[in-house]
Parts: sequence; structure tokens; C-alpha cells
Amino acid sequence: MDDILIIGAGQAGMQLAVSLRDLGFTGPITLSGSEASGPYQRPPLSKAYLSGEADVETLELRAPSFYDDKHITLRCDDAVVAVEFTGERGVATTASGARIEFAQLALTPGSEPRRLQIEGGDLDGVLYLRDLSDADELKGRWDAAANVVVIGGGFIGLEVAAAARKAGKAVTVLEAADRLIARAVSPITSEFYRQAHRRRGTDVRLDARIARLVGETAVAGVELEDGELIPADLVLIGIGVVPRSGLAEQLGLELSGGAIVVDEFARTSDPRIVAAGDAVLLPHPLGGEGRVRLESVQNAVDQAKVAAATLIGKLEPYRAVPWFWSDQADLKLQIAGLSSGFDEAVLRGNPDDEHFSVLYYRDGQLIAIDSVNDAPDYMAVRRALGQNATIPADQAPDTSRPLKSLVVPSPA
Ligand SMILES: Cc1cc2nc3c(=O)[nH]c(=O)nc-3n(C[C@H](O)[C@H](O)[C@H](O)COP(=O)(O)OP(=O)(O)OC[C@H]3O[C@@H](n4cnc5c(N)ncnc54)[C@H](O)[C@@H]3O)c2cc1C
Repeated sequence: MDDILIIGAGQAGMQLAVSLRDLGFTGPITLSGSEASGPYQRPPLSKAYLSGEADVETLELRAPSFYDDKHITLRCDDAVVAVEFTGERGVATTASGARIEFAQLALTPGSEPRRLQIEGGDLDGVLYLRDLSDADELKGRWDAAANVVVIGGGFIGLEVAAAARKAGKAVTVLEAADRLIARAVSPITSEFYRQAHRRRGTDVRLDARIARLVGETAVAGVELEDGELIPADLVLIGIGVVPRSGLAEQLGLELSGGAIVVDEFARTSDPRIVAAGDAVLLPHPLGGEGRVRLESVQNAVDQAKVAAATLIGKLEPYRAVPWFWSDQADLKLQIAGLSSGFDEAVLRGNPDDEHFSVLYYRDGQLIAIDSVNDAPDYMAVRRALGQNATIPADQAPDTSRPLKSLVVPSPA
């Protein structure tokens, strides 16, 4: 029997299992997870769950009965620690000593927070946010915290900062780079977020140089290299993630920059093994240059669908338009496409109104959009990218016309 083991019961692993059943696979599926609970949504952890607007049940990706109904064996709280193939079959060993045999393997282990190596980094009250257990620890300290310092001005840091301001805390964001969210958006969008967080009362520091975290046993402050001490009873570190690729390394799979290299069919360098989600480096899904690593729900879901199809012998290349969102206070950022490598950014609307878009072009071709509180603009570009269409850059700023009315086929 072609039994399949999926290692990593998160967004991608869950989707892979569901897609295998949707595609008619009837063999045994084991979904193996290291967390105490079954697959759940991470995005609310820094948004509605943190603010107390969503409870833990609403995070579940599927009700517990789903796994029995679909004959998916869900094994929680027992990480796979070793995995190997012997001839045609493989065997995985878990932390508790269980052995799981399989014929085909999918790796969906996700990523983990990059740790800040700094004096005081292990003080009580210095936290990271990836899992439900991290979120519960953060929530447990939330009410008592008056001064919150966020280290890292990326999406997770800024979402936590917005939630903390909304809860009335004094909030400082320390970003080492010269702008916020620098890996994902253009300087126009970065500057908008700096100002928007400042307007809401957050102290945003760019080019921040942190000397150490201070405190006896619990953190009391963050000391900058110039000697300034910023009081803190809670420090949230959000400085990016690193792919979990330990098992892939054991299996001798090709890695690059710590991520698992796959082709457009989600196949690793060993054709018996597929991989999907945050841990993976994939060919640019829209035919752009090079490989990309995408940390998003969209990628985890769409790539898992491709991986499931590959496992049952239906090769369907990954061609999904990347999309992403981030909720910070009352600001909804929506991104479609990948803006890296853009040579022109066109502003549509007025950032001062907190309602605008930035369209990105490369060689005159539309490649991406960031929209703030403008879902119609975002949807117009997402659809255009999926249809190999474009929007002339000289017409894009014209807000008297809906963006979707400006879409034209891309030149051949
Ligand atoms: C706080 C937060 C907010 C986010 N907000 C957004 C957002 O607004 N929009 C968006 O698009 N994306 C957002 N993301 C990113 C998104 O959640 C991830 O891109 C997505 O979860 C990746 O899916 P994945 O399956 O690759 O990894 P995960 O969902 O992390 O799942 C991987 C699972 O594998 C388990 N695992 C790892 N190793 C093993 C092992 N050896 N054995 C067994 N199990 C193992 C892990 O414990 C984990 O449960 C957010 C992430 C976080 C943390």
C-alpha cells in the first residue's frame, strides 16, 4: 500500500492531507505534528487572538472529527526526530520512540523564529511568536505589561505593536534597518507604516542599535548603543524566521540558504519526497528569475496542493499568484505578486488618507501591488497577474477610474 507520511501538521501539511483525499487517494495518510494541538491558523496569533477578539476554537483549521471522517491519522505532540529510506520504504522515528513506516514522504515542517543573540536575550519576559504556546505566553503577560518593546519592524512585530497600542501600552519598535518591512515592500509603503504607527502613538526607531537587554531575572529595559535605556516589561522579538530543514538534511536533500530546494512540482532533490510551505525554496511561481522562499498562508496552501498532486502522479506546475495580508490597527495591507526586482513603483491614491496602492513594474510589466485599505485595487492586480495582463504605468495613478478598468493584455 502506498502509505504517505506528512511531517509537519501545520498549514501546508493539513492542506496536503486534505488535497490527497480530494484527489481520490485512498491509502493511509499519517499527519505528524510536534505541537500539542492539531493544525491551526497562525495569522490570528498576532492579530485577533492576541487582542482577545478570537478564541482558540476559531483557530482550528478543521474540527477534530474531520481527521476520523477522512481517515487521516493525526499524531500530535510527538516530533519526528529521524527519518530514512531503506530501499523502497522509509521509516520515521518520533521523540517518544514510535516508528512510522511509509512509502512516500512529504516534508512540511515550517519555520521557526530567528533568535537574537544578545546579552539579556534569555531574561524572563523576552518572547518570540510562532506557535499557539508562544501566543498564550504573550497573552498571559499582556495585561500586566505597561511598556512593550518590539525588536524588529516586520509584519509580526508591527502587528503586535499595533495590538499593544490598542490595549493602551507604551510601545517602542526598534528596527535595525533604515525602513520598516524592508524585505517585502517598497520605501513608499515602509514610510507610510512608519508614519501611521507614529500617528497611533508608537515610538518607531529606525537604524536602531541595541546594546543589550537589561534586568535582574525579568527584563526591565532595552539599552541602545548610545546609552539610552528604553523601559520594557515585555520584549517581543520578531526578526524573521529560519526554515526547519534538519530532517531534510538527514535525508541528504539539496538545501540552499537553509531551505529545502524544490522544483515547480514541489519535488525535492529526491523524487520520492515532496516539500511545501515556509521551509521551501521554490522556482519563482510567475516565471520570474531565480528561486524564492514565501512565508504565507497562500503559498503553504497552493504549494501543498501541487505536492499532493505530485504524490499521486499528476504533475501540475505551481503557477499561483502569490498574495499576502497584514492587519495593523485599522490598516489592512494586501499584497499580490512579488515586488522584488522592481524598477518602477507607481503610487495610486494618497498615503495621508490611509487609502492607497503602490504598483510595481519591471521592464514596464506589472509584477506586484501593495494596497492599504483598498481591496478593489488589490483584487484588480491579483486577477491581472493571474491572466498575464498588465496595467499601463502611466494610467495607474488615475484614481478617477477603477483600476480593473485599466487592465490590458500583456504584450506578447
Ligand atoms: C504570528 C504569525 C502571523 C502570521 N500572519 C500571517 C498573515 O497575516 N498572512 C499570511 O499569509 N501569513 C501569515 N503568517 C505566516 C503563515 O502562518 C505561514 O506562512 C504558514 O503557517 C506556513 O505554513 P507551513 O505549513 O509551512 O508551516 P507551519 O504552519 O508553521 O506548520 C509547520 C508545522 O510543522 C511542525 N513540525 C516541524 N518540525 C516537525 C517535526 N520534526 N515533526 C513533526 N512536526 C514538525 C511545526 O511544529 C508546525 O506545527 C503568520 C505567521 C505567524 C507566526
